[in-house]
Amino acid sequence: MYSDLLANLNPEQREAVTLPPLNEHGQAQSGLILAGAGSGKTRVLTTRIAWLIQTGQVSPIGVMAVTFTNKAAKEMLVRLGAMLPINTRGMWIGTFHGLCNRLLRAHHKEAGLPSTFQILDTQDQLSAIKRLLKGLKVDDEKYPAKQLQYFIGHAKERGQRARDLSVGDDFQAKMAQLYEAYDEQCQREGVVDFAELLLRSYELLKHNEAIRTHYQERFRHILIDEFQDTNALQYAWLKLLSGHSQIPVNVSGAGSSAVFAVGDDDQSIYAFRGADVENMRLYEKQFHPLMVKLEQNYRSHGHILDAANHIIANNSERLGKNLRTDAGHGELVRVYDAPSDHAEAAWLVDEIKALVNSGIKRTEIALLYRSNAQSRIIEHALFSAAIPYRVYGGLRFFERAEIKHALAYLRLLENPNDDTSFSRVVNFPTRGIGARSIEALQDEARAQQCSLYLAATTLTGKAGASLSGFVRLVDHMREATRHNTLPETVEFVIQHSGLIQHYLGEREGQDRVENLQELINAATAFIAEEGFGQDAPAAMLPGENAPGVVEVSPLAAFLSHASLEAGDNQAQAGQDAVQLMTVHSAKGLEFTAVFITGLEEGLFPHENSVNEQNGLEEERRLMYVAITRAKERLYLSHTQSRMLHGQVRYNMPSRFLEELPSDSLKWLTPKAKDARWGGASRSSGSTWQDGYTRQREYESNDFFDSGSARQLPPKRVGSASTAVTRMAAPPRGNYPFKIGQNVFHTKFGEGRVTGLEGNDADARAQVNFKRHGVKWLQLSIAKLAAID
Ligand code: ATP
Ligand code: MG
Repeated sequence: MYSDLLANLNPEQREAVTLPPLNEHGQAQSGLILAGAGSGKTRVLTTRIAWLIQTGQVSPIGVMAVTFTNKAAKEMLVRLGAMLPINTRGMWIGTFHGLCNRLLRAHHKEAGLPSTFQILDTQDQLSAIKRLLKGLKVDDEKYPAKQLQYFIGHAKERGQRARDLSVGDDFQAKMAQLYEAYDEQCQREGVVDFAELLLRSYELLKHNEAIRTHYQERFRHILIDEFQDTNALQYAWLKLLSGHSQIPVNVSGAGSSAVFAVGDDDQSIYAFRGADVENMRLYEKQFHPLMVKLEQNYRSHGHILDAANHIIANNSERLGKNLRTDAGHGELVRVYDAPSDHAEAAWLVDEIKALVNSGIKRTEIALLYRSNAQSRIIEHALFSAAIPYRVYGGLRFFERAEIKHALAYLRLLENPNDDTSFSRVVNFPTRGIGARSIEALQDEARAQQCSLYLAATTLTGKAGASLSGFVRLVDHMREATRHNTLPETVEFVIQHSGLIQHYLGEREGQDRVENLQELINAATAFIAEEGFGQDAPAAMLPGENAPGVVEVSPLAAFLSHASLEAGDNQAQAGQDAVQLMTVHSAKGLEFTAVFITGLEEGLFPHENSVNEQNGLEEERRLMYVAITRAKERLYLSHTQSRMLHGQVRYNMPSRFLEELPSDSLKWLTPKAKDARWGGASRSSGSTWQDGYTRQREYESNDFFDSGSARQLPPKRVGSASTAVTRMAAPPRGNYPFKIGQNVFHTKFGEGRVTGLEGNDADARAQVNFKRHGVKWLQLSIAKLAAID
């Protein structure tokens, strides 16, 4: 009975789940659910799929659902499996990248790709670009590889090939030319980057009417989670596939498909990657969806929700909605002011221990940070305290060097023309192939317009001899594993490539050897999860074993998985571990307790964003996402000094702390022994001070003076967004500058003084530079001049 499915929903959610997918003329009717965090959007979307299937409006193969992460896709499949007695395997539920990969695998010929095409991750792409620039003898000071990578990604996200670009100046013309050369190189090598997966499948659908019609008729329902973070190309892709674009579609006249989008404009946090919240407005205009708003939050307790509502109210560009909860106020949001990043990490460890002692599972505790680089000190503290943890994002299992080496060998078995993989392992482990041989090989490949692998078979002389040894090794591995299963193939390759041997000989290689062995386990788990037969040879196509399953060999599927997967196969998978991740990767997730660390100006909000209204609003949305991950407990911390990118930075507390409702906060005073200006309070030993007193000090802007230089509350003067200062002590120094003064720095250019602290030789100024953002400068050494 489908009413069971709807029993656990509130009336608005039920309305959303059961929005009619057809209008009164029998044409597809789209829907839009616009709602704040934790209001059940994802739950509604999953339930709608179940409802559509259970009521016979669509079969499982007629549904396509797009999630933001692989983790979310897996969860959705598990939930669906629990709601319905159906086999969810083979359903098209995945990320845009995952689904496009599937489409291209199924139609590689029409898409102009080899069946064995490999996916370049961001790092691989950068090395491919560097190789290209070197080959073309381009000055990479003038045309930096990273900039070209960004240029290419940006163009592809807007659906533009090099020929579609209108180039304003010589620099852009050259970049466009390099973009074209890069695409040619990828084509030659049979590799595609992430953005290419999307663009190539968009072009496939656009130019191939038969394929387009096939999928349009098949996917009668397309559902999209986190719609606010789609980019222009994804939106165009969706329009095309659902039959809402200008191109004449549907020879059979079957009409378009019903799109069901759920999203929250306040959680749009990927503008830097081309996501455009404008798509929500476009969607309203072009798809004429029925709309439902959800306002009840089921995730967070009251104080947490108040904090979220307060923060986001500071943004001006909003579609506007509210969230309420029946869960009661719950606990206050705790704020901790640490003297240093080490003290912050030590405090995290203490709090986590206390939470775990109170019965909270470690997987229910998340440590969030704005930048990946922040995780190192936290990881170190957790490690030293023997607290199991897991890092999402950052260096994931499949991104570790040893794993990438093993994957490169496996890729060469699939596709020997993959030059990126070839270059990675041709001399790893070292086999006496010197830089000169490789250069000769690259020249040869360029002259012959062929892959490095093919060139290696024709090269003569000394270089030719050592290279052909490598080619023989790869060919031998391919032959020898022809009938092996995937885990056997992986095992064979890590042994015979010499990788295991190599790392065994390294002083700290044991971990790497274990990771390589873990790759065999990952392969075993993969074929079980994907439903490949346990005995299926790695290199053979498994055959159509379920409707909608695309023919692809276990090895090819595993390699795509390794490129697309977001680190679900870490060594400690399954263990109860604290969850570490950036705020970006926490989107859509929820935890009983959440720590948001590093709440400092320049870090969160990020220094690149603070000078622009849009940038700042995006940071604020990111803060909103972070806060709304918490169910019961929320902790916020900031430090006064932090080592980042090799520099000690003295940071102001984040402006976001000031935007929070003071009634919902509880300030924790740091343990006195850690205090940077310790002194009077040292006598209070390790007891915690009453947060309330601290809060009053903070609000009254009085200096706390107990007769000695004790740590003072953060203080801010002027408007929240511009003039900021922390008075570490009543400034006794004779500063040559005043707050608000315009200054010039030889490296950073023009800026305005926004803060002053310290004395004499220690005096520092905070300057907001027009082009370089906020920086703290030591006045005794900085080359700073007043300009008015
Ligand atoms: P986000 O914007 O963060 O992605 P969301 O809107 O997708 O959030 P969900 O993750 O679907 O929200 O739901 C948040 C939490 O509330 C989940 O734990 C979900 O199971 C629960 N929930 C949603 N609706 C209900 C309901 N009607 N009754 C009880 N719990 C609910
Ligand atoms: Mg969600």
